[in-house]
Parts: sequence; C-alpha cells; structure tokens
Amino acid sequence: MPSFVMNEKCDGCKGQDKTACMYICPNDLMVLDKERMKAYNQEPEQCWECYNCVKICPQQAIEIRTYADFAPLGASTIPMRGTDSIMWTIKFRNGVIKRFKFPIRLTPEGSINPYAGKPEPNYDDIKKPGLFTQTADQLVVK
Ligand code: SF4
Ligand code: SF4
Repeated sequence: MPSFVMNEKCDGCKGQDKTACMYICPNDLMVLDKERMKAYNQEPEQCWECYNCVKICPQQAIEIRTYADFAPLGASTIPMRGTDSIMWTIKFRNGVIKRFKFPIRLTPEGSINPYAGKPEPNYDDIKKPGLFTQTADQLVVK
C-alpha cells in the first residue's frame, strides 16, 4: 500500500522550501500543502513503496501498510534512522510491539567520496558507449 502522511505528526518540515519527503522521493510524489503545512502523496498509484520518505521523515509521520510477507497483516512498521543503524518498530494489530535494530554502515556518515580516484568526466565522450571509468581495451567486443 502506498505511503500516507499522518497529519497529526507532520509539521511540514517547519516550512522549509523543500521538505525532506519531497527531496528524497525518486518519483516526485510528495508535495506540501503550504496552507495546512502538511505533506501528502499526490499520486498514490504511482508510489512504488520504496520506503525512502518513511525513513527520512524526521517526525516519523509517514507510514506504509506492509504486506504480509514482510510483517504480519495489519501491523505497522516505523523506522528510526541513526547515523550507523536503523531501528524498526513493528506494531502488531493486537498491540504487541517488537523492535529490530540493524547496522547500516561501517564508515562515518558523509565520509564517502564516490568519485575518489576516478577521472574527470569529459563532455566530448558523452556519445561514446560504456561507462566513464571503462578503458578503451575494456570496450572491445570479443
Ligand atoms: S518529511 Fe515528514 S514532517 Fe517533513 S513534510 Fe514530509 S511528512 Fe511532513
Ligand atoms: S514510498 Fe518511495 S515512491 Fe512512494 S512516496 Fe515515498 S519515496 Fe516516493
């Protein structure tokens, strides 16, 4: 089931130009109603339930009803992100609560440079096949 915002928890990211959920949604589905200062999913049928907005919301205001193969039917799953781990709180429909904590990284947050050691991109190469890190001999079809 697509993401939905719990109005009582959403604070509109305190009126910033772009809310956290708008920033993170790969499908640009989240929008902010500036009069009510509440976000909502403008096109639920386009939501692929990636959980990005659920994980990034600082107010834990977004939920996705999970499928039965992931959590028991009727349960809610609420994540709490830390810098090195994520805690999932599962609330069963009978009121039982269980928590699961998983490590998510081994390096300090913000320390990764994905382009370190890679060549500078060259616009002249934009129509050439292959990836920018591939050398000419790697592109030879054998
Ligand atoms: S990230 Fe959370 S608090 Fe911020 S606007 Fe979206 S739903 Fe509201
Ligand atoms: S679950 Fe993913 S696709 Fe759906 S609204 Fe949230 S970020 Fe966008």
